[in-house]
Parts: sequence; structure tokens; C-alpha cells
Amino acid sequence: MENLIASDPGGRNVFALLVPDQLRLAAQSLRLARRVAIVTGFYIPEADAGETDGPPGAKTLGDALAKLGISVDYLTDSYNAPLLGSLGLEPVTTHDSYLDSAKPSHLVSIERSARARDGRYRNMRGHDITATTPPLDELFLEAARRGLTTIGIGDGGNEIGMGKVFAETLAAIPHGHEIASTVPTDFCIATGVSNWGAYGLAGALSILADHDLLPTAAECSAQIETLVRDGGAVDGVTHRREPTVDGLPLADSLRMLESIRQLIVPSPLERRLPVTVGILGYGIAGRAAASLLARHGHRVCISDLHSVALEEGLTVAGVETGGHTIKFLAQCDLVVASPGVRPDALILTQLHQRGIPVISELELAYQLCPYPLIAVTGTRGKRSTIELMQRFFAARAANGMESRRGRSSRDPTASPLIQRGLEGGLTIGGNKGRPLSALLLESALSIANRQSPIENPLIALAVSSFQLESIVHFRPHIAAILNLHEDHLDRHRSLAEYARIKSRIFMNHRPDDILILPYDDPRLRALARKHHGRTFFISASQPLDRGAWLAGGKMHINLDGMVESIAIQQDEASAEFFPENLLVAKLVTRLVLPDVQ
Ligand code: CA
Repeated sequence: MENLIASDPGGRNVFALLVPDQLRLAAQSLRLARRVAIVTGFYIPEADAGETDGPPGAKTLGDALAKLGISVDYLTDSYNAPLLGSLGLEPVTTHDSYLDSAKPSHLVSIERSARARDGRYRNMRGHDITATTPPLDELFLEAARRGLTTIGIGDGGNEIGMGKVFAETLAAIPHGHEIASTVPTDFCIATGVSNWGAYGLAGALSILADHDLLPTAAECSAQIETLVRDGGAVDGVTHRREPTVDGLPLADSLRMLESIRQLIVPSPLERRLPVTVGILGYGIAGRAAASLLARHGHRVCISDLHSVALEEGLTVAGVETGGHTIKFLAQCDLVVASPGVRPDALILTQLHQRGIPVISELELAYQLCPYPLIAVTGTRGKRSTIELMQRFFAARAANGMESRRGRSSRDPTASPLIQRGLEGGLTIGGNKGRPLSALLLESALSIANRQSPIENPLIALAVSSFQLESIVHFRPHIAAILNLHEDHLDRHRSLAEYARIKSRIFMNHRPDDILILPYDDPRLRALARKHHGRTFFISASQPLDRGAWLAGGKMHINLDGMVESIAIQQDEASAEFFPENLLVAKLVTRLVLPDVQ
């Protein structure tokens, strides 16, 4: 969820401000709150109005806390009071004695400007807004002196709370030297849009409370529309009086809300009962997903822009051609959208409005996958890496089977991963190859037909950034990030945003999962700090404590303090492979089949 809400549509380098685990810690602290003061409101002098980012988040978080029986006060200035009033909140606008009279246990700021180094208040563009920004940040400084718990949510580095990441703001944010907040909070939540940070905090509270505390999509829309219509709010980026937030359409807020909800409520597939699943786009991924779902006993409805020729033997509950309609898809418990469906397509917004979860083929297949996965991402060389890995597995498995014949005392079933790797080798697919659904289907068919060798497969997938953007619970046991090449990047995105998207490959990791990062790229090396499992590195130039590196024309691997040196074969050294392809492929092979000589 922390990764999700740090999505950075404004290209502000927000991921550079993300301190791992702050969302969880803030929620755990709030869960125990007695009385919470929520401070919000960002007034825009040029528009003579407050903005749409902040108050909806305040309302969402306040409602969630109220549902948990926690008292909530809303604090703002006189400029923003009408906005909160339009949402049915009664804001406190005189703050001098508030801490003494109300005695809150927690203060939360959502999108509220804080003083910079020179004591002035500035907006994201560096404009001085001190004259129209009463110093509500003083409450947080005083709260810190009194030992109250403080939480700050911001999306630009100039807000209350972001003083915790002052150095990062100076380094990563435009105008950072002028605008960087000097007011820290105990917990600081960096997010792409501040409302999203509040939705995330309400989402994290929902997980702790085991109860969905979020507004419905309709309530979320109504909040923002009411704020503009009755509260006179404007968009903080466009300064126009319209129901957009930070220049983003309402549909983006709904998509974020529903994506957060997917992390709270179980997937319909987890009910282990037959459900009705819509397939949006019957292309390569859609075909494989439909057949896999049918095989698992689910009802499948197919919606495509063009005519549909069903896979042989596939029985479906319905087919819609010539376009996607909500009337057809409203019967579904879940919808799988093909990569061809644009993220801003109307049908997706309509599905979000109805609260019907939308997932990708990769996520669907993952939710139905009984096997451990290896996943490789990076700007280039993903495919080559998993192909090399497959070769290394085959070679090592052949040696292993041979050497094991004389070693009956050792139990080859000790590690299921080793067993899989030895017996079945490595099955590969993913981006530009066979989708995971197709691999699972083949495996199911081979089990039915009693055909080895993919009865018990170990699967390695190449995974693109695009695929990573739409995963929910996808958790490969071993994840590797090869590289991040700027020449391949979309110019609308910041490098920090690419690092965030790549890091989604390990965001669901648990302590026994494994991540491999390139040590030579400081931006990717730094992701280790955000990882919850075991991390290994690769390097083309230097020895490592844990990982694989090249030196003196050889490859060296250090898994547990013992350095193993391996000669590089002629064909492996060829120009078609980058060093990271070889290093990752070899390291993964050793990690899975460690004791095979
Ligand atoms: Ca904002």
C-alpha cells in the first residue's frame, strides 16, 4: 500500500521521500489513539480559494477513525473553513488553546504547508504564500514538545511532516532548497497526491481493524464534487473550479481508492468458490486467463472490441463483441483487463464505480498459482536472463541427478525448490513470452495426462514495468532487478518513479524471500533499504559480501561467506549478454540448487 500511494503522476520524485514502513507505523499508532486532530487546507491566493487536495482525505481518515470509536477534530484556517463545512465537518479555526482544551493524543496533517528554512511558507512552485498561510505548523512543533504523536502526509516536500525528509527534499524535489519543510512529524507519509496518503492511512487502519473503513467510490466522488460545488474549492494545479485533484481526473482518485481496497478485502478468488470473471480483451493474455479460469471451475464472460473465436473446448457464460459495456460486465465478481485496455478507459472507471475489482492476467495467474516463482525485471535483458537461467538449470540438474545416484543417504526431497529444479528444470515465460496463465494451464494438462517433466514446475518470468504497475499480491519467491537504463524511459516519468515501479517486484516479500539488486547502480542498490527479505547483489566490478561478481575473467559467488569461483564459458561471454544477465542467471541457479555439485 505504501508503494501504491507513492504513485507519482505529477513526476515530483515522491518515491525519493518515502521512508519505509511509516504508513504501517502511523496506522498502528492511530489505532490506539484517544482523540485525533486532523489539520488540513491549502489556500491558493491566485484563485482566492482552497484546493481539492486535503479535505477529502481528512474526511476519509476522520470517518475511518470515527468508525473505530476514536474522537476526531478538524482544524483549518478561515480560508479553508468553507471547504470543510461543505463536507459536513465543523472545523476548529482558533487554535491557540486547542491542545490544552481538547487534549488530543495524535495530530495528523494532510497537505498543509510548513515553514521553510527562512521561516516563510511556500507552494510547490516556490511562491511565497506566507501572507495567506496561518502558522498551523506551530501546533505540531508544540505537540512534539508535549510528547504527542504526530503524523504528516505530503506530496511535495513543503508540507507539515516532510521536515523528517528535509535532506531528501533538498536533493530530489524541484525548488527543494526554497520550499523544503523544516517541520518533522513522528511518522511521515510521502504520497503522489495527499488525499491518496489519507486513503492509504484509512486503508492501513482497515487492515488492522479487519474491516473495510474506506468510503465507497460513489461517496469518494461525491466528496470531491461537493467540495467544488458547495465549498468553492479549486484544483491545486490547474486552479480551475472543477472536481479534479492535482490536475488529475476524478477517475484517477477512484482507481486509487479501489486499488487500496483490493489490498484490504480478499480477492473473490480466495473464496475458493466458483465466481464469475469478466475477460476484458480476448488477446493472448485474455485467452490464457479465460482457459485457466474455466479449468478452475469459474464462470467466464468475454468482452472484446472485435469478434471472438473461442479456444477449442472452452465453455463461457457469455460473450460481448464490438465494445465493452458495463451492462454486460456488471454480472462479474472480478474483471481481468488485458494490457491493451487503456488505464483511462471509461469501462474501467465504470467498474471502479461499482466496486468490481479489476486485475491483470499476471495477478490473476499468480492468485491461482501453486508453484514458487522467480521473476526478473529491468529495462533490458530480461528475456536473455531467464533463457540463460533455464540453460544453467538444465546443466546443473543433469549433474545433480548424476551425482545423487551414489548419495542415497542424502534426502533429495529436503528442499522442495531443489526437487523442482532437479526434476523439472525451469519453465520460462512472461513478458513477450507465454503468459503465466498459459504455463499453469500446460502444467495442469500435463498432470491430467500424467506427462512429466512439467508436472512440478519451477517457473521463471520476465516481468515488465507495465505488468508491475498493476499487480496486487504478486510475490515471486526470488525477484531480480537487472538494470534501469534511462534511454528506455518514458520522458513523462521521473527516475524515482521508475525505481518505485521496479521495486513493486519485491513489495510483497516476506523474510524468507530473496531479492537480487545491481550493486553498481546506486539508485537500485538503495532499494535494499526498502526490502523485507534477504537481499543479494550483483556487480560487474567489485567483490561482495552476498552475491555474484566478475573479476579476473571469472565469476565469483558468495552465498554464505564461502566464495566460489566459476570459469565463464566462451558462449556465455558473448556480446548478446550483459554482465547482469549472466550474474543473475548464475546466482539464481546457485540459490535454488546450492548443494548440487
Ligand atoms: Ca497535492
